[in-house]
Amino acid sequence: MASFNLLLLPGDGIGPEVMTEVEKLVRWFGKASGARFETERALVGGSAYDAHGVAITEDAMKLALASDAVLFGAVGGPKWDKVPYEHRPEAGLLRLRKDLGLFANLRPAICYPALADASSLKRELVEGLDIVIVRELTGGVYFGEPKEMVTLENGEKRAVDTQLYTTHEIDRIARVAFDLARKRRNKVASAEKRNVMKTGVLWNEVVTRVHAESFSDVQLEHVLADNCAMQLVRNPKQYDVIVTDNLFGDILSDVAAMLTGSLGMLPSAALGAEDPTTGKRRAMYEPVHGSAPDIAGQGLANPIAMIGSFGMALRYSCGLVKEADLLEKAIANVLASGLKTRDIAGPGTNAVGTTEMGDAVLRELERLTA
Ligand code: NAD
Repeated sequence: MASFNLLLLPGDGIGPEVMTEVEKLVRWFGKASGARFETERALVGGSAYDAHGVAITEDAMKLALASDAVLFGAVGGPKWDKVPYEHRPEAGLLRLRKDLGLFANLRPAICYPALADASSLKRELVEGLDIVIVRELTGGVYFGEPKEMVTLENGEKRAVDTQLYTTHEIDRIARVAFDLARKRRNKVASAEKRNVMKTGVLWNEVVTRVHAESFSDVQLEHVLADNCAMQLVRNPKQYDVIVTDNLFGDILSDVAAMLTGSLGMLPSAALGAEDPTTGKRRAMYEPVHGSAPDIAGQGLANPIAMIGSFGMALRYSCGLVKEADLLEKAIANVLASGLKTRDIAGPGTNAVGTTEMGDAVLRELERLTA
């Protein structure tokens, strides 16, 4: 029997509320799928600071490193605005990303038919949309050196950020994108600015080589990142997987996110390098949203982004593709039945709470498998 270790890090604010709904699903899949899920729980963010004086403990880091997947809720909130910088809630998240070596950020944008009217685009452009942005997460202009602001002799200031990529950083992210495309519609668009940036030229070269060497069965298109932004709002359904650097990925994934309606709907995954012996990758799955202090503790949060993140863990860390498809179908059916949390319900519509939404997904799973 396949067995998986999941580390649950609910975090702060609505994190624990949405994680509770995932725990119900973990138990259900444990019974229904024939796979075994061992779960551990630990604190992260402000709640870890309150209990231990740090944003994540060494014990929790050990559990994360030993796990098949980390499920992360959200961290932060005004309560911790004044804690020392190195212990701020986000430090826990950054430590996890760094120590697990998570260099590939997968951000799906799925537009369920029932939510097409919540998109900023016309229904026909977004209904049935299903794309993934693969963003390089640990290199590029956010980390390149020199990175500085200096005052010049004439009193003017000069600020410098450095966009920097090496061959292996591009090679490994390209492989993640091509692998992913093979499990989907087999298409990759690689976005860069080779017309004005040297890193764009290298990006283009490396992606082209990796494609020719190992993935020539996948359809590859190169697109300039600015054109990609335009295409995403003109005709987003033309894409399947988009692979791009840290900076462009930050922007393009937010554009794609808004095509789907609400922050409460958006899951994400961050993957590390493949272990050459086991073939497994370190991985962390988390909703795109934050801890939503404005609605925390009120049972109003939409748990679908967190539930969808668990679905990604089933797909990418557990290889349980049928189960992941089933979970996505259950979510789509629940939404199609008209059940909505406040963030996705139209004005004047009755909204359900976090628990009702989680329970409805569970009931739908039971119905689909009866
Ligand atoms: P946020 O995502 O927490 O909230 C933005 C808005 O969206 C709020 O009005 C919130 O109520 C709503 N919202 C978010 N998720 C929702 C859900 N699941 N259901 C219904 N509504 C939802 O962003 P913010 O307000 O900018 O940040 C709040 C705190 O979260 C800050 O401390 C910030 O640093 C932190 N944050 C953490 C993460 C993370 O843990 N990965 C990400 C972003 C922000």
